[in-house]
Amino acid sequence: MPVYLVLIGLPGAGKGTQAALLSKQHGLAHVSSGDLFRDNIKRQTPLGQQVEAILKRGDLVPDDVTIAMVRDRLKNPECARGAVLDGFPRTPAQAKALEAMLTELGGRVNLVPYIQVSEPVLVERLTGRWTCKGPGQHVYHLKFNPPKAAGVCDVDGTELFQRPDDREETVKNRIAEYVAKTSPLIEHYRSLGLLVEINGDQAIEPVTAQLLAAVAGAK
Ligand code: ADP
Ligand code: ADP
Repeated sequence: MPVYLVLIGLPGAGKGTQAALLSKQHGLAHVSSGDLFRDNIKRQTPLGQQVEAILKRGDLVPDDVTIAMVRDRLKNPECARGAVLDGFPRTPAQAKALEAMLTELGGRVNLVPYIQVSEPVLVERLTGRWTCKGPGQHVYHLKFNPPKAAGVCDVDGTELFQRPDDREETVKNRIAEYVAKTSPLIEHYRSLGLLVEINGDQAIEPVTAQLLAAVAGAK
């Protein structure tokens, strides 16, 4: 049976960083809705053109568009063993759609690690985040997770850049969007007995260790 882990947390909590490590460790696909949108924007596909201004503002993309994109990806053979979902679902409607999708695929949400971080930590993480231009969109941090050579990705040698939506004004809007639309998911998954709280204020390695232990203990 495929395994699906859903990472929840504010922008900058470390979802992408931890999803990359967890998916590798467990042989699961890493499905990041934000990476999928940014890849479409880079390639200027019709979907990319439709969502570009929305991402720039830090608003959420409409549910129907997001759900269709993630459904396509999860049906891909690459996701046959399951996936670590990073950034999806972000609304109750998306959570409902995900449950239906996973039933179709013969699985279910197995665990929802909620990576908790305090606000000052969050802002420092987002303002120091650098992402590579390669298709893997590898993530670094100026201070906490610097690349070996300044400005260059360790994995694929591409140049690093700062995401336009990590500017302070947009960050504020993204946090407000999360509080208004995504935070109800915490109680939803808690009531299903799937939520596990992870202390995301720690350094990358102890967070990974806590996550791996939670996954090992999940049914
Ligand atoms: P972060 O990892 O910092 O939280 P993401 O890369 O997950 O940011 O998301 C970047 C942007 O992509 C969001 O601000 C939003 O515009 C869009 N987005 C990503 N996932 C979703 C989703 N599940 N629903 C709606 N919009 C999304
Ligand atoms: P999210 O996907 O939740 O928006 P990221 O994984 O992109 O978050 O992390 C945001 C920034 O913080 C990145 O620059 C990343 O390198 C850094 N980071 C992630 N986890 C930690 C951690 N535990 N300690 C310090 N920095 C971290």
